[in-house]
Amino acid sequence: SPPEKNDFIRQIIRDDLAAGRHARIRTRFPPEPNGYLHIGHAKSICLNFGIGREFAGLVNLRFDDTNPAKEDPEYVEAIKEDVRWLGFDWAELRHASDYFEVFYRAALKLIRLGKAYVCDLSAEQVREFRGTLTEPGRDSPFRDRSVEENLELFQRMRAGEFPDGARTLRAKIDMASGNINLRDPALYRIKHVEHQNTGDAWPIYPMYDFAHALSDALEGITHSLCTLEFEDHRPLYDWCVDHVDFAADPELYAPLVAAGFGVPAGKPRQIEFSRLNINYTVMSKRKLLALVNDGLVAGWDDPRMPTLQGLRRRGTPPAALRLFADRVGISKQNSLIDYGVLEGCIREVMDAAAPRRMAVLDPLKLVIDNLPAGHRETLRFANHPKDPSFGEREVPFSREVWIEREDFMEVPPKGFHRLVPGGEVRLRGVGIVRCVEVLKDGDTVTALRCTLDPESRAGMPGADRKVKGTIHWVSAADAVAAEVRLYDRLFTVADPDRDEEGHSYRDYLNPDSVRVVRGWVEPAAAVVEAEQNLQFERLGYFTADRRDHAAGAPVFNRTVTLRDTWAT
Ligand code: ATP
Ligand code: MG
Ligand code: MG
Repeated sequence: SPPEKNDFIRQIIRDDLAAGRHARIRTRFPPEPNGYLHIGHAKSICLNFGIGREFAGLVNLRFDDTNPAKEDPEYVEAIKEDVRWLGFDWAELRHASDYFEVFYRAALKLIRLGKAYVCDLSAEQVREFRGTLTEPGRDSPFRDRSVEENLELFQRMRAGEFPDGARTLRAKIDMASGNINLRDPALYRIKHVEHQNTGDAWPIYPMYDFAHALSDALEGITHSLCTLEFEDHRPLYDWCVDHVDFAADPELYAPLVAAGFGVPAGKPRQIEFSRLNINYTVMSKRKLLALVNDGLVAGWDDPRMPTLQGLRRRGTPPAALRLFADRVGISKQNSLIDYGVLEGCIREVMDAAAPRRMAVLDPLKLVIDNLPAGHRETLRFANHPKDPSFGEREVPFSREVWIEREDFMEVPPKGFHRLVPGGEVRLRGVGIVRCVEVLKDGDTVTALRCTLDPESRAGMPGADRKVKGTIHWVSAADAVAAEVRLYDRLFTVADPDRDEEGHSYRDYLNPDSVRVVRGWVEPAAAVVEAEQNLQFERLGYFTADRRDHAAGAPVFNRTVTLRDTWAT
């Protein structure tokens, strides 16, 4: 088994368990269904679900659906699919919207406690009154409304009597706090928008901090793991949990109990870790959405996108993303991870897991003169050079084969060890051929005539004779035409997000990030299932396209090259 992970979060959990603070730990992954998940989310998924697995805990998938204008059921379905694809499953599927009635009761409780008030300031005025880092804020003129007036106004907000933005419900905390998040933050706003889960039942919606803290408390989350930008929100998180205090007030969550949900227990603890940042890409949902909407990529699942759907379509094995999350690790230090680290994880996983096949992407015909016309053979090849459990396959061989055009040079530079006029090379798994004639049309080489040394074939005395180069090939009589999509990084610069006068990430799109070629593959490559990972020998790791591949009309995506060719 792999070594035990020991980041600071897992240490906290170990200590908590050792001290008997929790019978069982519970975490959650709380995406907002306002876009597709990206590789940054994968870090959070692997952390939360990984911890669940390692500590025999439970993990909820909770849709943080408190911002209905930007949310869509399409995203909900994709997120569920992505979490499962990454290899995880949730204990319970929840929505913040499952708790709207409970949140509402909690807000009424805060009003009764004198801890919340209805404020009529406009958004702009609220900003103005909030103060700055160096200046304290000023109290809203509505801060001292009576409990009765607040109750009445908030109930009328809920009844839909006021237009969008007319009023907010605010926590009454401290307008002079050094932490701006505590300067009477909004708990509710008015928004007459249909919700993808609750329809038009609610004209008011809870704010993120309030909903998030209470959702964690309701679900009995023990460790609420979030990214560093929420560190300054933690005092507000604790304020909400402590003042609402579900344990003291079962009436608040009675609707959940009636609906068959569990009873909240214990107090959640928020712990922050650094977000994942990777170079050569952008990760904000807003920018990814713009790439899709402006047609700069072919969709959310374009194989160049850092979305999980894009990575999947490209052929990235989910195990490579889990390995990547482990390798990046968990800390409180913000850092920028090199894209090459991800590619290295993909190579490592695919090297171990991908069967080998032969394909020729830029074909040049090689004719073996000393085999009879119509000669056909069937050879047996190991599917994996290091792992016999992959078994063997049949590879047809005939008098004419396709080789890679760049494996022949008429005027070779020094150190070129492949085929040259009059020279020899090993055809992988066949034997040694010598180039006896170069056929040309003008300057273009159209075919090579060769002879195969019969003494160099398997089982013959010269089978071990050394030649410098070995090249791959596909029997021309048996080859299947394939569409092969050669993907590369989407951006040409390490920091496409750089803030530069008059420039945006769009100016750094890599014009060569996809090249589509027609190549030839051996029959055993053509019949694979969609999403099968393969290594095309000497070319790279490829995957049968999830949507367009069909046996007989194969389509492959280059998932990653064999070696890192990017200088950074
Ligand atoms: P974006 O800023 O791209 O819109 P978000 O954080 O608003 O992302 P959510 O759907 O709210 O997106 O994220 C769900 C969870 O994933 C949150 O707990 C969030 O902290 C985590 N997460 C999002 N991006 C990253 C990242 N780059 N690294 C680690 N965790 C992340
Ligand atoms: Mg968010
Ligand atoms: Mg966001």
